[in-house]
Amino acid sequence: MILGVASGKGGTGKTTVSLNLACVLGSDVRLLDCDVEEPNCHLFLKGIARENETVAIPVPEVDESLCDGCGECGRFCEYHAIVSFGTKPLVFPEMCHGCGGCAKGCPRKAIHEVDKRIGVVETVQAGNITLIQGRMDVGVAMAPPLIRAVKARLQNGLPAILDAPPGTSCPVIATLRGTDFVLLVTEPTPFGLHDLKLAVDMVRELGIPFGVVVNRVGIGDDRVHVFCRQEGIPILLEIPEDRRIAEAYSKGSLIVEALPEYRGLFRSLIEKTMNLKNAEGF
Ligand code: SF4
Ligand code: SF4
Repeated sequence: MILGVASGKGGTGKTTVSLNLACVLGSDVRLLDCDVEEPNCHLFLKGIARENETVAIPVPEVDESLCDGCGECGRFCEYHAIVSFGTKPLVFPEMCHGCGGCAKGCPRKAIHEVDKRIGVVETVQAGNITLIQGRMDVGVAMAPPLIRAVKARLQNGLPAILDAPPGTSCPVIATLRGTDFVLLVTEPTPFGLHDLKLAVDMVRELGIPFGVVVNRVGIGDDRVHVFCRQEGIPILLEIPEDRRIAEAYSKGSLIVEALPEYRGLFRSLIEKTMNLKNAEGF
């Protein structure tokens, strides 16, 4: 099963849930850190670096001697990464998604593609966990192609946990597309509820089954619980507000290692998710 872990906002405990789940799974698992702007799963895993691969996307380069300034490339590009005002086009590589459409559509074959580096994919082995993380280069704003490169390292038949970037924008959708089930992590606060609603709308739009994890239960109020009950959304795990969890986190320790009494809680999350999987046949 490919499990996505997402959250409408940052700082809710999404990475904590991903890491601790991977740790208690008890079998080989791929943990994909798709938060390529700020990957942080590696801070909690002591492993051996295995691979480090550069990722690049093809961006257009125009041969002025062949171009007649027809403007077809600029009209095609929905990202405005290539524009033409009846002259040789201007290319803005930082806005290019590397789709290759402008080169294919150029009637004069005046466009060829050159590689533009956007980041790296790093692989770390930590026991039964294979951590694969994308790390975007400074100044690059194109996360989805790097996320797709991370996801290309999924292995058929092996369970995987995908730690999504925070929010509900394109990088999150690029992460969650193709997953079997999504855990939405939230906190029982008005802000948590607001962002949970956005995240629920997103996964419903994507048509992926999902459940909720409520972190820091004991702070805030019960509006997240009321909302989930009204919407028929299962709450699969409640992590209590516990100062010792924050202390473990600040030391770079996993909850289930620092506080073994929590192992059962995370194991129960796996069981509940698998039961839903079997019940819904996905
Ligand atoms: S489509 Fe080709 S020929 Fe037309 S403006 Fe673009 S590069 Fe030049
Ligand atoms: S490769 Fe695609 S995104 Fe990039 S400039 Fe050409 S049409 Fe636009």
